[in-house]
Amino acid sequence: MHEPSHFLNPRLASGHGPGGAVWSVQATDGAARAGVLHTARGAIQTPVFMPVGTKGTVKALHPDEVHDVGGQILLGNSYHLHFRPGDELIRDLGGLHRFMSWNRPILTDSGGFQVFSLRDTIVKVDDEGVTFRSIYDGAAARFTPELAARIQTNLGSDIAMCLDHVPVPELARRELEDAVRRTTEWARGQRDATRADGQLRFGITQGGIDPELRRRSCEEIAELGFDGNAIGGLAIGEDRAATFETTDWAAELLPADKPRYFMGIGDPEGILEVIEAGIDMFDCVLPTRTARTGSALTNEGRLNLRNARFARDEAPLDASCDCPACARFSRAYIRHLINQNELLGLRLLSLHNLRFVIELTRGAREAIAAGGFATYKHERMERLTWAHS
Ligand SMILES: [Zn+2]
Repeated sequence: MHEPSHFLNPRLASGHGPGGAVWSVQATDGAARAGVLHTARGAIQTPVFMPVGTKGTVKALHPDEVHDVGGQILLGNSYHLHFRPGDELIRDLGGLHRFMSWNRPILTDSGGFQVFSLRDTIVKVDDEGVTFRSIYDGAAARFTPELAARIQTNLGSDIAMCLDHVPVPELARRELEDAVRRTTEWARGQRDATRADGQLRFGITQGGIDPELRRRSCEEIAELGFDGNAIGGLAIGEDRAATFETTDWAAELLPADKPRYFMGIGDPEGILEVIEAGIDMFDCVLPTRTARTGSALTNEGRLNLRNARFARDEAPLDASCDCPACARFSRAYIRHLINQNELLGLRLLSLHNLRFVIELTRGAREAIAAGGFATYKHERMERLTWAHS
């Protein structure tokens, strides 16, 4: 659905790629790429925005609704599902797809990001793993590469991520170097661990914005030969220009014939920047989290629906959007719902924001195929930036 057909080769658009390739390229434009990612549960058109369903649900939405706004693959999270309801319980009930009734591809994060971003809960990090206290009940817990593999095998995801050491941006260089070294060692440990049938496994690079360490991490992780490679540890509070500059050259260091995943970006400008750098996949809670604060992502910038100026505004959230919210409801009505804490308001904004970033990404894919990505980016950015000023 929602896909232009003029450049799609139907043979590549379903099932496995030629010669068993995980990712096949269909068009490039500068460093930007349009391709197809082949998973056990179907093909994914890239670049792709992946909605986040941390605890086995994209907050407030039915899985069919996520699919209807163009969602091709969901994210689940090992940390949260391991503690509640438990990955073994999910395995016993037939795996995460069946548990949450989503029969399309799922990518699971390893839990590394959660452990390290909840830094007050960390007890000890060593070369074999990380010991911390669970945010659910404070009980001592330990994640190792082997456990990260086992949890994701139990969940049965289509793409499993390596456990990585995600350092905070202001960390001293020596500690950053330790994190890079550890991330490689953990990746080596997880690479050969048991995996679910047909499950792909992606490595993650670290190194912050440090040129030498990021380069080292990219080379070491690429060398391990994962099915895909991710850029982790960016967009976590460092200077935004440095994020994109680093992404530009770091993406190039990752194998060109495999999918590249930027972990944790989902604002419209950021999406266009990483696609331009040659990134194929990205995820973020931003569209749905922004929705729950009462704001809409639009071509006029971010609209805070609580604002009094929308009280009598009969226009849809975005005139160019075809989502279930924009098809029927006015800004005035959605503002009323949000101000009264009505659940429908949060649901409509969540659907709209997801549709907005998915549609932006689909437009980028089309532009890459037509050889006009630079123009597309420029035009979209101008509208977004104009709206902010
Ligand atoms: Zn909409």
